Amino acid sequence: NKTNRKISAQRKINSPKMREPKTEFATENDTPLDEERKNSDVDKKVLREILEDEIIDSLQGVDKQAAKQIFAEIVVHGDEVHWDDIAGLESAKYSLKEAVVYPFLRPDLFRGLREPVRGMLLFGPPGTGKTMLARAVATESHSTFFSISASSLTSKYLGESEKLVRALFAIAKKLSPSIIFVDEIDSIMGSRNNENENESSRRIKNEFLVQWSSLSSAAAGSNKNDTDNSNTDGNEDDSRVLVLAATNLPWSIDEAARRRFVRRQYIPLPEEQTRYVQLKKLLSYQKHTLSASDFDELVKITEGFSGSDITSLAKDAAMGPLRDLGDKLLETERDMIRPIGLSDFKNSLEYIKPSVSQDGLVKYESWASQFGSSG
Ligand code: ADP
Repeated sequence: NKTNRKISAQRKINSPKMREPKTEFATENDTPLDEERKNSDVDKKVLREILEDEIIDSLQGVDKQAAKQIFAEIVVHGDEVHWDDIAGLESAKYSLKEAVVYPFLRPDLFRGLREPVRGMLLFGPPGTGKTMLARAVATESHSTFFSISASSLTSKYLGESEKLVRALFAIAKKLSPSIIFVDEIDSIMGSRNNENENESSRRIKNEFLVQWSSLSSAAAGSNKNDTDNSNTDGNEDDSRVLVLAATNLPWSIDEAARRRFVRRQYIPLPEEQTRYVQLKKLLSYQKHTLSASDFDELVKITEGFSGSDITSLAKDAAMGPLRDLGDKLLETERDMIRPIGLSDFKNSLEYIKPSVSQDGLVKYESWASQFGSSG
């Protein structure tokens, strides 16, 4: 029957296999195995589209076009990030496991008093791994991942954006467990007294808050969560939809929205050990001559760098050996290219600077001590 088909569609679409469709087309040099894999990738994509249509048909009171757009642009497939891909940030990882991953994987244990939070904010300087963490949470909790930003919700047609927001929440409930990741939440949930706020962004913000509240009250208001386990197998389940947001400007968030983020996790600049782990990892597949003491020196001189500054630095340093060759690189054998050395990093440090200023940092830390969750 229809309900069973819906549930099976949902399970299939939520399974890790379904979340990684890579559509490639057969080429002449393919082995039978390659071909089989590519065909199965195409099959998966077709199957996913059928399942999506089925889900869209089953949604009530949701604009079909908006729902299609959510599937096409907002649901993230593939591109998985795991905890180990993220250097350091141990306390943030722990908080996210406790607040989201464990409750999503063991909903039977997290009911009543232990009910999972509906909103969690990751804040801190840019490039510190907030987006990576959100992706890892989705991967590790086997959740459907919806990634939105202000630009993906803004539509020039009046009223369209609200339809998108409604469709977003409806699909998230249908495909739960779900993570609705809002990047740069400050641009959607900016302070209400901001005079520049236009009519359309005010409406998006209000609709988002309404939908988000309905989620919380629907689950919090029903006692069924304490006793009924029937929702734990992929059926519609309000309690496993989380709004996870990231911002570099936490002080610009509207107070009403800020209160809804029960957990506010500070994601600081990487400490020495984290910079060490990240640098080691970035260089692990490269030919280099950096000794243990070179790494120590590098760790010291990258104080104040964010994770993305470190990535940029390593990428630039890795170009050093190629830059030395100039045009000769076109005819040089790969094995003859010299390894990356500490001097390459030092050269790159001439123009790759930390993107966060000391003053900027002080601002984050004071917001963290006023509004952040401890731990
Ligand atoms: P944010 O969302 O905080 O602005 P991102 O998660 O988008 O930052 O990180 C940007 C890039 O910086 C990542 O793609 C990655 O290359 C690098 N990066 C940042 N933090 C880390 C980290 N802790 N471990 C590994 N890479 C990191």
